Amino acid sequence: MSDQKSKQPVDDRVAEALEAFHERLQEEGLKSTRQRDIIAERFFVLDEHITADELVEDVRNYQPRVGYATVYRTLKLLVEQGFAVPKDFGDGQTRYDPVHNQDPQHDHLICVDCRKIMEFNDPELNERIQAIVADRNYTIRRKKIELYAECDDESCPNRPEG
Ligand SMILES: [Zn+2]
Ligand SMILES: [Zn+2]
Repeated sequence: MSDQKSKQPVDDRVAEALEAFHERLQEEGLKSTRQRDIIAERFFVLDEHITADELVEDVRNYQPRVGYATVYRTLKLLVEQGFAVPKDFGDGQTRYDPVHNQDPQHDHLICVDCRKIMEFNDPELNERIQAIVADRNYTIRRKKIELYAECDDESCPNRPEG
């Protein structure tokens, strides 16, 4: 099982993602705007499973007057262009998973107490899944593995004693 976060320095990773985003926008005949750039940049810098509300709050540190609709539209664009995937980890909130340069096979481990989300990628597990599906003559369209568990973080409210 390998950790999904790349070892690339944050600045390089963000610059690369932004460049790819701009390229996509250009291909689609869409203009990049300063506000949209800041929103996309913060989304890539944070690199979390963030909600639109959380991103609005963060972006307002840099663009105090940014509106929810602008942030929401930018997230939608990031999804349409393949830079983010909307997810619901069982709490009814839509979270946006940054997937640029990431193995699309990755799965999630979610703490039921503090909602911390860990990513993991297990090639053996993926192989088994492929085999299970192929044995039954199915073709996978989508895979969704979410493990709801208790983490052992110091700060986790319901941390099991040990
Ligand atoms: Zn993820
Ligand atoms: Zn926890």
